[in-house]
Amino acid sequence: MIRQFCQTSFILWNLFASSLLIADTNTESVLPDLGAFSVNKQQEDQLGQQFLRELRASTAILSDPLIHDYLENLCYRLAFAAQSKHTNLDIVVLPDRNINAFAVAGGVIGINAGLLLYADNEAEVAAVLAHELAHLDLHHYTRSQQAQAGDQWLYLGALLASIALAANSSNNDAGLAVGLSAQAALIDKQLSYSRLHEREADHVGIQTLTNAGFNPQAMADFFSKMDRQARQVGLMPSFLLTHPSSQERNADSTLRSQQYPNKGKVDSLDYQLIRRRLLAIIDGRQADNLAVLQQKLNNNPKHEPTLLSILFTLLNNEQFSQARQVATQLRTISPQRIDYIIAQADIELANQQAQNAVKILEDALLINPQNQTLKMYAAKAAIKAQAYTQAIQWLSSLSYERANDPEVWQSLVECYQAQKEGLQLLRARAEFAFLLGSYDKAISDLEQAKKLATNNYPLLAKIKQRQLVFEQTKEVSKKIK
Ligand SMILES: [Zn+2]
Repeated sequence: MIRQFCQTSFILWNLFASSLLIADTNTESVLPDLGAFSVNKQQEDQLGQQFLRELRASTAILSDPLIHDYLENLCYRLAFAAQSKHTNLDIVVLPDRNINAFAVAGGVIGINAGLLLYADNEAEVAAVLAHELAHLDLHHYTRSQQAQAGDQWLYLGALLASIALAANSSNNDAGLAVGLSAQAALIDKQLSYSRLHEREADHVGIQTLTNAGFNPQAMADFFSKMDRQARQVGLMPSFLLTHPSSQERNADSTLRSQQYPNKGKVDSLDYQLIRRRLLAIIDGRQADNLAVLQQKLNNNPKHEPTLLSILFTLLNNEQFSQARQVATQLRTISPQRIDYIIAQADIELANQQAQNAVKILEDALLINPQNQTLKMYAAKAAIKAQAYTQAIQWLSSLSYERANDPEVWQSLVECYQAQKEGLQLLRARAEFAFLLGSYDKAISDLEQAKKLATNNYPLLAKIKQRQLVFEQTKEVSKKIK
């Protein structure tokens, strides 16, 4: 079924080839004409949200607000530079070591941890994301879909299966995964974009990269780095399976990047610190060797990324007092940098001193009261400290600011459960179930909540309204599949 779908689409893609070859020689050209393809934005958004809910239900998501926010910010920066029509982006980070990223209709962008572990600098990550954003903005996915009218979910279902399979195959690996299971590879091949779409995405992506202030050379560098690795190891990173590469394409993107001024940002401290955090989370105890890190520090005693790596290594080795000293050192260098504040709280949490973690985050919130990331960590620390009322205060404001974040609702469930607040528990549980696509469960939780809300008519009205949204979404999801 999937194979047939791809073959049909491929014929359609070929129809575009000749006109694009002409456009390709001109670096000034912007978006190719979408021609007769009408794109229904509402339908795209519904598909994207349905995909997101099923992804959350089927695959482990890396729920570290700091890493998530950094990537979200980078994606919005690129979307702004691309003058993208996607103004609502949903970023999902997967703890998967395979080098991959994907974009789905409606503005969903998935980023594997492997991409950040493999990319040496911020510009390389930005290059891949700019390329993905271009696939989205050019509606490559929708255009191929329309070749197969009515089977929109076929592609997304296969993508979900491929993500889940790849994630499972990389879970037990300590190193960076550069290959997939045969089954995952097969699905990925069926999902792959055509070479034409790849060239289009490269073309538009490199413009975006340049407009966002990055060095455009990063795109060619990263793609050829992946290619070299694939040849040496003999295994393809997922990204190359779904984004077919060729020598011709690599030569193309090198040539194209030479037509742009070879300047712009390559790296940032933000990226290097996020990368160290991710390494500590993904690799845990197998994190960097302390002796090697100390040696690096000899040449540059205030090198912040190395200091942060040392901090996480000490934390993972449960050497808490030394880890605290490094945290103090980092906060002396940059007192209000959120990476260091949260790392300091991480140490206290790992050392079972949750109340200390709450204090650190609370102090930071006094200076920066609107910071949602700090609020999220503060709430999690408060739950560990069993300070549920305090946690609920932070989570309640987050439930408005980040209403689509399952972690907010899951944390609220934990608090209300501990406080035995039946009505609120049911409402939070319903929101959580809804975000994971369990519509029946969400609806029945609200049904129960209504019984507990008797006589509170304003609240009853609110619950009914929410139930209606859940029911409507359930109906739409039936039509999608
Ligand atoms: Zn691509």
